[in-house]
Amino acid sequence: MAEKPLNFIGGQWVGAASGDTSKVINPANSRMITEVPKGSVEDAKAAIDAARNAFDKGPWGRSTPGERALYLLKLADLLEKDADRLAVLETTNQGKTIKQARDGDIPFAVDNLRFFAGAARSLTSAAAGEYAGGLTGTSFLRREPIGVVGSITPWNYPLMMAVWKLGPALAAGNTAVIKPASLTPLTTIEMGKLIEKAGFPPGVVNVITGPGSVLGDALVSSPDVDMVSLTGDTATGRKIMEAAAKAIKKVHLELGGKAPFLVFEDADLDAAAKGAVAAGFVNTGQDCTQACRFLVQESVVERFSKKLVAEAKTVVVGDPLSRETDMGPLVSKAQLEKVESYVKIGKESGATLALGGKRPAGKAFKDGFFHEPTVFTDCDPDMRVVHEEIFGPVLTVEPFGKEDEAVHNANDVIYGLYSSVWTKNVARAMRVARALRFGAVEVNDHLPIVSEMPHGGYKQSGFGKDLSLHSVEDYTQLKHVYVDLTEAQRKGWHYITYGKP
Ligand code: NAD
Repeated sequence: MAEKPLNFIGGQWVGAASGDTSKVINPANSRMITEVPKGSVEDAKAAIDAARNAFDKGPWGRSTPGERALYLLKLADLLEKDADRLAVLETTNQGKTIKQARDGDIPFAVDNLRFFAGAARSLTSAAAGEYAGGLTGTSFLRREPIGVVGSITPWNYPLMMAVWKLGPALAAGNTAVIKPASLTPLTTIEMGKLIEKAGFPPGVVNVITGPGSVLGDALVSSPDVDMVSLTGDTATGRKIMEAAAKAIKKVHLELGGKAPFLVFEDADLDAAAKGAVAAGFVNTGQDCTQACRFLVQESVVERFSKKLVAEAKTVVVGDPLSRETDMGPLVSKAQLEKVESYVKIGKESGATLALGGKRPAGKAFKDGFFHEPTVFTDCDPDMRVVHEEIFGPVLTVEPFGKEDEAVHNANDVIYGLYSSVWTKNVARAMRVARALRFGAVEVNDHLPIVSEMPHGGYKQSGFGKDLSLHSVEDYTQLKHVYVDLTEAQRKGWHYITYGKP
């Protein structure tokens, strides 16, 4: 990169107060791409002050939804114009394929921003009629922004997650401090530049980079931050909830997943195998919605497993910048080692390694964090590979007998984000969709996510929704305004109005 990325605080581009930097690595070859500021509590405080000031005193706090929509639309246009460059940067920093970054993540982020622009103007809240012992009063609700939002994002979809956090927060009228994951800060910093270009008032969005344990903690513990929104690991969510409890601060948590993919004997097995590979190896399996647990009816488990393995063999692993590549490297050495440790755990627990299980051989893979697409068969629900989040290209296949058993085993994990059911029987699809305790159930598909529909978990996958009007509402609070219609002095102050219909 030509110029060194900086933090964006109060409309200014600045280095860390300490002058410290951290290296950003290309996971396909382990080479350093650039260095970014290694922020500390001091930098977090400056960013929070800027956001607080912009909310309390700047024009943003008094902006109309229509005005905010115009800024978001402008940002969407700028992102769309810059899509080629940003896709290359995302791929270089994160390792996802260029096909996914250019054809998926960035156009979707543009669509998300345009949706949030419309959503800004669609927020409504109810008004009550007259009540309290006759026509003495009326009420209405104001849906107000919460204030300063601290947004903390993961490394698997850096730019898209930044949009999922900032879009609804800004649409609702909040200001924000965003902290991208230390491994993948580059496209969020570039988005800061587009935010500046779109003319957002200074301090409305601030970008700071540095360790999560320091900056994230500073955001959660600051009394000037009104809400914290995290997409990340369940363990991180737990820490944030604990810290936020001290100040009773609102939290919005999108956490881990371990998505089941239920295949019944009447399913189209060819379609299911193709869907399994698409949803299993997307983003090298580093996706909270990744289909990773395949629960397959006993009568077809062998046929399905064969088709799954045959399909998985067609996945092209390689240079993520090549359009021929289906699967790039994992994001870091640590993530690669985590995957390897789970492969070992899978083998030791008696699962059959039907495909993959190691780093690919060859010069092209020597310095990157690559791993083969991997499939374990003959699994059972108690195995750690089946119920712990691996976040890599490792799929497990386990048989089931009846529908009830499939539902029970699918639900028997701490997570509840995404799931799918594959069957031609409509009644069964509806029954299973109702019984699965997941924030999303798809029938005969696994991946589609749309701007209009909420994305978010049940159980330890967190709470609060991304996308849809529900996400914008999550970044608001409701105020009840009661209006006396009688002019109170005339009727005296001391009367009981509650308890009457
Ligand atoms: P992570 O929890 O390690 O990091 C997420 C963010 O939190 C990073 O910015 C990190 O710096 C910050 N952080 C770390 N420790 C912190 C602390 N003590 N206080 C405050 N912030 C802290 O997660 P990750 O490894 O970047 O991402 C992978 C995880 O994210 C997986 O578990 C995955 O399932 C989850 N994820 C969930 C969704 C969803 O929508 N539910 C989407 C994407 C990823």
